[in-house]
Amino acid sequence: MNKSSVNNKVEFNIIGQVNSPYKEKFAIPRQPGLVSSAKGTITLIGDANNPELVRELAQFSHIWVLFVFHGTQEQGWKPLVRPPRLGGNKKIGVLATRSTFRPNPIGMSVVKLDSIDIKDQQVILHISAIDLLDKTPIVDIKPYVPYSDSIPQANAGFAQSQPSSTLQVTFNKQAQIALTKYSHNFPDLALFIEQVLAQDPRPAYKQGKIDDKIYGMNLYDLNIQWQMQGLASIEVIGITSAVSNL
Ligand code: SAH
Repeated sequence: MNKSSVNNKVEFNIIGQVNSPYKEKFAIPRQPGLVSSAKGTITLIGDANNPELVRELAQFSHIWVLFVFHGTQEQGWKPLVRPPRLGGNKKIGVLATRSTFRPNPIGMSVVKLDSIDIKDQQVILHISAIDLLDKTPIVDIKPYVPYSDSIPQANAGFAQSQPSSTLQVTFNKQAQIALTKYSHNFPDLALFIEQVLAQDPRPAYKQGKIDDKIYGMNLYDLNIQWQMQGLASIEVIGITSAVSNL
């Protein structure tokens, strides 16, 4: 038996860290690409923070980001999970899903590579359409190669296409005033909130039912409050800042 089959462990170094407007799991889209206005960065760290590692990467419009589900890692994993796409009540094998509760908590997302910044030897990748929690540790980055990574005729079972039912999003007077106030710091805020809420971030069992709960979600340093209006629309009723000098 060779050494690697005796020791069933591998060890990786973290090569970067994500800065994301998503400060908590609630309301993060279930896949990248669903919220195109979600912008973030990856700051390369340690030995990987070397401009040589990204030489010629900027010619690719999209990259694969391999990361650790650090936010759920401590909860361990389960062989069977209930994907939200199946209404949250059917259990299927974890390896048949993109659940975060996997034997190894590794996530992979295709994101848009907007630009690469190198200042004082610090490499920062600007990315968008992300589904990554703030401070996500990155273990690898690879160029997205459509001729081999994209298989348009592939079968994807219960996840064949993007969820079709998106919600209508409106802003009440108070929320509109707040949007104007914060637009200086966050120019695309209205679009970002709209795209996030259109995905219906509520747990699957709430969908299609009358729901008068007031929800709160954190994006950047802002807390956004919203409520269902009927079954298919959401009204944003408040936007407040956790940081007073914004
Ligand atoms: N595109 C990835 C992730 C799919 S699951 C993949 O297919 O592997 C998407 C969910 O991952 C999001 O809803 C978000 O809640 C969760 N997520 C994103 N970053 C995370 C992190 N660092 N830790 C735990 N969960 C995370």
